[in-house]
Amino acid sequence: MKRKTTKKIYVGHVPVGGDAPITVQSMTNTKTKDIEGTVSQILRLEDAGCEIIRFAVNDNDDVAAIAPIKSRIHIPVVVDIQFDYRLAVASAIAGADCIRINPGNIGNRDKVYEVVAACKDKNIPIRVGVNSGSLHQDCLDEFGGVNEQSMVQSGLREINVLESMGFNNLKISLKASDVGLCIRAYEAFSSVSDYPLHLGITEAGPSFQGTIKSAVGMGVLLNEGIGDTIRVSLTADPVEEVRVGLGILKSLGLRQEGIDIVSCPTCARTNIDLLGLVDEAQMRLADMDKNLKVALMGCAVNGPGEAREADIGIAGGRGEGLIFKKGKILRKVPESCLLDALIEEIERM
Ligand code: SF4
Repeated sequence: MKRKTTKKIYVGHVPVGGDAPITVQSMTNTKTKDIEGTVSQILRLEDAGCEIIRFAVNDNDDVAAIAPIKSRIHIPVVVDIQFDYRLAVASAIAGADCIRINPGNIGNRDKVYEVVAACKDKNIPIRVGVNSGSLHQDCLDEFGGVNEQSMVQSGLREINVLESMGFNNLKISLKASDVGLCIRAYEAFSSVSDYPLHLGITEAGPSFQGTIKSAVGMGVLLNEGIGDTIRVSLTADPVEEVRVGLGILKSLGLRQEGIDIVSCPTCARTNIDLLGLVDEAQMRLADMDKNLKVALMGCAVNGPGEAREADIGIAGGRGEGLIFKKGKILRKVPESCLLDALIEEIERM
C-alpha cells in the first residue's frame, strides 16, 4: 500500500502525519479530576502500547488536574473540549499537548480566536473533530442530510475558520458510527486535503461488535494509505481499545513490534488442548519484547507447513507436540511442557 502523504504535526514529542509511524490513541474513562485514578489508567494504557492519550476537560477542577497528571505520565495529552472556549484556553495554558474541539460548538469567531491564540502561543495543534451526529444545519440543508459530502464540507468549513486566523497546526477526524459512511467521508476528505487524519469509528459499541466495526472501517482506510493516527472506541476497558488498535496495525503489516500469534482454528485432527495453549500463550507472551511471528497449530500434518512463514511454532500431536522454526522441526516435546519449551526457545531468539 502507498501511504497518502500528509502534513506532519507534533502532539507533544509524538509526530503525527507525514512519514511518522501511525500511532495508537485511547481516551480515559475516569473522572479527569480524579488524578490518582486517571494517572493509574493512563499508565496501564501506556503499558499496553498507547502512544497518545485524550481526556475530557469539563470544568476548572479538570483543568487543574492537567499538570499533575502530565507530570506522572510519559505520553502526550489531548484535551477534549465540548463547548466552553475558556476551558480550551485554560487547558492550553495548563500544558495540554493538543486541544480537540469542534469549532462549530465553540461559538462565535471571537471565542474560536481566543482558542487559536492560546494554541499558537503554546505551539500546540488543534484536532478538529467532525462527528456525523453534530453537523452544522447549513451543511445538512445544503447536502441533503448526513452523508459524506456534508461531513467533509463541515470539516473544511471548520478548517477554513482556523486557517483564516493564520492557524494550520491541525489534524482532523470525521467520525460516524456507520462504517460505510465513515469510510466514504475519510476517503473524500483525504482526496481534497493533506491535513493529517485521526481515524475512528464512533460509538462502535461493546468489545466484540466495536472490534469488528473498527477493524473493517479503519482496515479499509489504512489499506488505502489513509490515516495517520487511530483510536478504537469500545464500551470496554480502554486498554482493550489499544490492543485492538495495535492489532489492526499489525494485521496490515503497519507495525512489527511484539509477538504476533497465528493459530489454527482446530479441527478433527486436533488431539491437544490447543485453545488452552493459545490462551496461556497469549498471556505469557503479551509482554515479550521481541518481534516474532509465533504459530500455534493443532496438528503435525498441516501445522508446520501451513505456518512455514512463522519464525517459530508448535504443532500438536497425541499427548505431545513438535517445536518448529521456519517450517523445520526442531524437536518433539510432551504436551505438558510444550509451552514452556516453546517459550524457552523464543527467549533464546
Ligand atoms: S493445522 Fe491441523 S489441526 Fe489445525 S485446522 Fe489445520 S488440519 Fe486441523
